Amino acid sequence: MQVFSHKEALGHEQVVFCRNDAAGLKAIVAIHDTTLGPALGGCRMWPYASEDEALRDVLRLSRGMTYKAACAGLNLGGGKSVIIADPRKDKSEALFRAFGRFVESLGGRYITAEDVGTAVADMDVIAMETRHVTGTSATTGGSGDPSPVTAWGVFHGIKAACAHAFGSADLRGRRVAIQGVGNVGLNLARYLAGEGADLWVSDIDPERCERARREYDARIVVDDDIFGLDVDVLAPCALGGILNDRTIPAIKARVVAGGANNQLDDEERHGRALQERGIVYAPDYVINAGGLINVNAELHRAPREKALRDAEGIFDTLTRIFRLADEKRLPTGAASNAVAEQRIARIAEVQRVRLPLASRP
Ligand code: NAD
Repeated sequence: MQVFSHKEALGHEQVVFCRNDAAGLKAIVAIHDTTLGPALGGCRMWPYASEDEALRDVLRLSRGMTYKAACAGLNLGGGKSVIIADPRKDKSEALFRAFGRFVESLGGRYITAEDVGTAVADMDVIAMETRHVTGTSATTGGSGDPSPVTAWGVFHGIKAACAHAFGSADLRGRRVAIQGVGNVGLNLARYLAGEGADLWVSDIDPERCERARREYDARIVVDDDIFGLDVDVLAPCALGGILNDRTIPAIKARVVAGGANNQLDDEERHGRALQERGIVYAPDYVINAGGLINVNAELHRAPREKALRDAEGIFDTLTRIFRLADEKRLPTGAASNAVAEQRIARIAEVQRVRLPLASRP
């Protein structure tokens, strides 16, 4: 397995392989860029088919976090971790405490949080071993489940994308298809139904679909049929890589805007393919920044109301990105990358000014 020359190792600062056989822990922490602040990003637990697949995922996800924090205007760097294990049967106190000790050993360069396969209760266990964890339960001073804030940001991002594509941010009567009605997708369904949108949902877990049908009157779609529906908006809220050679030609929606990370299988090629088809694509890391905004509020001990208000700012950020993309004839992902890279470069320049010793922390 290649690490330094891995094709996804694009400017990463540090990659840490963590192993504790007694606890059954095999994890990788990737710190992509700490120019803006400590690297913050969730801990994904997944039964990866291979170590290379886990490495690829953590490298991609951590880089995405750098861009996400930069675009969201936060003073955080990009990081992520993956635990190679099955969340349905491999969770234990020892495993998460062992992981927590590795996080602590990084001295705050990496701050962890929940992600696919991990939950608030797991963050509470990690917190037994490290201070550098967010998303712990509200009773222990944490901000709890970030997904309602993530979904709130996605909801406002969908409004921005609809304003750009259809000339109106009003979602009444808009037809929206959500792939994946887990924590983010189901909260998104709630906000969308609240504004009068018509919903279609798909999920590999039939119970989740059933819940969306019962609570939000959503129509249930089987598997990949979700991509070819005659709807206005496709909101991918499951896993990554789902915008690819097979799915993009089938998409009828004018807007693709959802909460999942790394939606484009190939960032450049598939970003361009969406642009060529005239689809308004909300770059994933911009539209799903609400979770990060939420944990950032937690780090600053700000209340959830502040996180929700800040997540509404995703509307303006996306509007700016859509306009830049149009102006420069770029895929929207290239436009958001440019916005993020420009901020990082500018702040790196600011940091060149050396402060006197006495005023350093
Ligand atoms: P989750 O595990 O609660 O939900 C994911 C859902 O997708 C599950 O219900 C699962 O059954 C379903 N799913 C998996 N594969 C599918 C497929 N092929 N087709 C249809 N459904 C499928 O996770 P979540 O917290 O809701 O996160 C969803 C996505 O959003 C992930 O990509 C995550 O990285 C991203 N995200 C989440 C947050 C957050 O605050 N939770 C923040 C930012 C980004």
